[in-house]
Amino acid sequence: MKEWVLYVMGWASQLSGYPFPDSLPEVQWEPESWFSHRACKDHVPCPVFGLYEDGDVVVLRNDMTDTAKDHVAVHEFVHYLQHHSGRFDLNSCFDTDKREQEAFRVQSRFIAEVQGGFTAFTISHLPCEHDPRTPFTAAAASRP
Ligand SMILES: [Zn+2]
Repeated sequence: MKEWVLYVMGWASQLSGYPFPDSLPEVQWEPESWFSHRACKDHVPCPVFGLYEDGDVVVLRNDMTDTAKDHVAVHEFVHYLQHHSGRFDLNSCFDTDKREQEAFRVQSRFIAEVQGGFTAFTISHLPCEHDPRTPFTAAAASRP
Protein backbone atom coordinates (compact mmCIF):
# COMPACT_ATOMS: atom_id res chain seq x y z
CA MET A 1 0.00 0.00 0.00
CA LYS A 2 2.74 2.43 0.97
CA GLU A 3 4.63 1.56 -2.19
CA TRP A 4 1.58 2.12 -4.31
CA VAL A 5 0.99 5.52 -2.71
CA LEU A 6 4.63 6.41 -3.42
CA TYR A 7 4.26 5.24 -7.02
CA VAL A 8 1.13 7.29 -7.63
CA MET A 9 2.51 10.35 -5.85
CA GLY A 10 5.69 10.12 -7.89
CA TRP A 11 3.71 10.48 -11.10
CA ALA A 12 1.32 13.09 -9.70
CA SER A 13 4.29 15.18 -8.68
CA GLN A 14 6.29 14.67 -11.85
CA LEU A 15 3.44 15.35 -14.27
CA SER A 16 2.07 18.33 -12.35
CA GLY A 17 5.40 19.97 -11.55
CA TYR A 18 4.60 20.25 -7.84
CA PRO A 19 7.41 19.13 -5.55
CA PHE A 20 7.15 15.69 -3.97
CA PRO A 21 5.44 16.28 -0.60
CA ASP A 22 7.03 15.81 2.81
CA SER A 23 4.14 13.68 3.93
CA LEU A 24 1.87 11.39 1.97
CA PRO A 25 -1.92 11.37 2.03
CA GLU A 26 -3.77 8.64 3.81
CA VAL A 27 -5.87 6.62 1.37
CA GLN A 28 -9.28 5.48 2.50
CA TRP A 29 -11.21 2.95 0.38
CA GLU A 30 -14.98 3.15 0.32
CA PRO A 31 -17.80 1.43 -1.64
CA GLU A 32 -20.12 3.11 -4.13
CA SER A 33 -22.80 3.50 -1.45
CA TRP A 34 -20.47 5.76 0.55
CA PHE A 35 -19.76 7.93 -2.48
CA SER A 36 -23.40 7.98 -3.44
CA HIS A 37 -24.34 9.32 -0.05
CA ARG A 38 -21.52 11.79 0.07
CA ALA A 39 -21.35 13.09 -3.49
CA CYS A 40 -24.37 11.89 -5.47
CA LYS A 41 -27.33 12.75 -3.24
CA ASP A 42 -27.84 9.01 -2.67
CA HIS A 43 -28.27 8.26 -6.37
CA VAL A 44 -26.86 5.06 -7.82
CA PRO A 45 -24.95 4.70 -10.06
CA CYS A 46 -22.74 7.45 -8.69
CA PRO A 47 -20.08 8.54 -11.22
CA VAL A 48 -17.68 9.86 -8.59
CA PHE A 49 -14.65 7.68 -7.99
CA GLY A 50 -12.40 9.82 -5.85
CA LEU A 51 -12.78 12.55 -3.27
CA TYR A 52 -10.40 14.98 -1.68
CA GLU A 53 -11.54 17.63 0.74
CA ASP A 54 -8.41 19.56 1.61
CA GLY A 55 -7.19 17.43 4.47
CA ASP A 56 -4.71 14.59 4.52
CA VAL A 57 -7.16 11.92 3.43
CA VAL A 58 -7.89 10.87 -0.15
CA VAL A 59 -10.98 8.70 -0.49
CA LEU A 60 -11.12 6.25 -3.38
CA ARG A 61 -13.74 3.78 -4.58
CA ASN A 62 -12.97 0.18 -3.75
CA ASP A 63 -14.74 -1.17 -6.84
CA MET A 64 -12.41 0.21 -9.52
CA THR A 65 -10.13 -1.75 -11.80
CA ASP A 66 -6.41 -1.49 -11.06
CA THR A 67 -5.97 0.81 -14.04
CA ALA A 68 -8.72 3.15 -12.91
CA LYS A 69 -7.43 3.09 -9.34
CA ASP A 70 -4.10 4.41 -10.55
CA HIS A 71 -5.34 7.29 -12.68
CA VAL A 72 -8.12 8.36 -10.34
CA ALA A 73 -5.59 8.37 -7.51
CA VAL A 74 -3.23 10.51 -9.63
CA HIS A 75 -6.07 13.02 -10.09
CA GLU A 76 -6.86 13.18 -6.37
CA PHE A 77 -3.19 13.32 -5.41
CA VAL A 78 -2.79 16.39 -7.64
CA HIS A 79 -5.49 18.04 -5.52
CA TYR A 80 -3.50 17.07 -2.44
CA LEU A 81 -0.38 18.68 -3.95
CA GLN A 82 -2.33 21.77 -4.94
CA HIS A 83 -3.67 22.14 -1.44
CA HIS A 84 -0.24 21.79 0.14
CA SER A 85 1.29 24.20 -2.36
CA GLY A 86 -0.78 27.02 -0.88
CA ARG A 87 -1.16 28.49 -4.37
CA PHE A 88 -4.91 28.38 -4.51
CA ASP A 89 -7.68 30.24 -2.80
CA LEU A 90 -9.86 27.47 -1.45
CA ASN A 91 -12.95 29.64 -1.43
CA SER A 92 -12.66 30.87 -4.97
CA CYS A 93 -14.78 29.27 -7.67
CA PHE A 94 -12.27 30.42 -10.26
CA ASP A 95 -9.45 28.63 -8.46
CA THR A 96 -11.62 25.58 -8.05
CA ASP A 97 -12.03 25.43 -11.80
CA LYS A 98 -8.30 25.84 -12.31
CA ARG A 99 -7.55 23.10 -9.80
CA GLU A 100 -9.98 20.77 -11.51
CA GLN A 101 -8.59 21.46 -14.98
CA GLU A 102 -5.05 20.91 -13.80
CA ALA A 103 -5.96 17.63 -12.10
CA PHE A 104 -7.73 16.35 -15.21
CA ARG A 105 -4.79 17.40 -17.40
CA VAL A 106 -2.36 15.45 -15.24
CA GLN A 107 -4.71 12.48 -15.11
CA SER A 108 -5.02 12.48 -18.91
CA ARG A 109 -1.26 12.65 -19.32
CA PHE A 110 -0.81 9.77 -16.90
CA ILE A 111 -3.25 7.64 -18.89
CA ALA A 112 -1.68 8.55 -22.22
CA GLU A 113 1.99 8.47 -21.25
CA VAL A 114 2.18 5.93 -18.44
CA GLN A 115 -0.74 3.61 -19.08
CA GLY A 116 -0.70 3.87 -22.86
CA GLY A 117 -4.45 4.38 -22.99
CA PHE A 118 -6.69 7.10 -24.24
CA THR A 119 -8.92 9.37 -22.25
CA ALA A 120 -12.59 10.09 -22.39
CA PHE A 121 -13.70 11.90 -19.31
CA THR A 122 -16.96 13.10 -18.06
CA ILE A 123 -16.14 16.05 -15.89
CA SER A 124 -18.89 16.17 -13.34
CA HIS A 125 -18.16 19.20 -11.28
CA LEU A 126 -20.24 22.25 -10.69
CA PRO A 127 -17.87 24.31 -8.59
CA CYS A 128 -20.09 27.29 -7.91
CA GLU A 129 -23.36 25.55 -7.33
CA HIS A 130 -22.95 22.83 -4.81
CA ASP A 131 -22.73 22.63 -1.08
CA PRO A 132 -19.85 24.82 0.11
CA ARG A 133 -19.03 22.28 2.81
CA THR A 134 -17.93 19.83 0.13
CA PRO A 135 -16.57 22.10 -2.59
CA PHE A 136 -14.29 19.75 -4.48
CA THR A 137 -16.04 16.46 -4.93
CA ALA A 138 -15.63 15.56 -8.53
CA ALA A 139 -13.31 13.15 -10.18
CA ALA A 140 -15.16 11.07 -12.65
CA ALA A 141 -13.85 8.76 -15.31
CA SER A 142 -16.25 7.39 -17.86
CA ARG A 143 -14.29 4.14 -18.01
CA PRO A 144 -13.53 3.12 -14.45
ZN1 LIG B 1 -10.93 16.83 -9.11
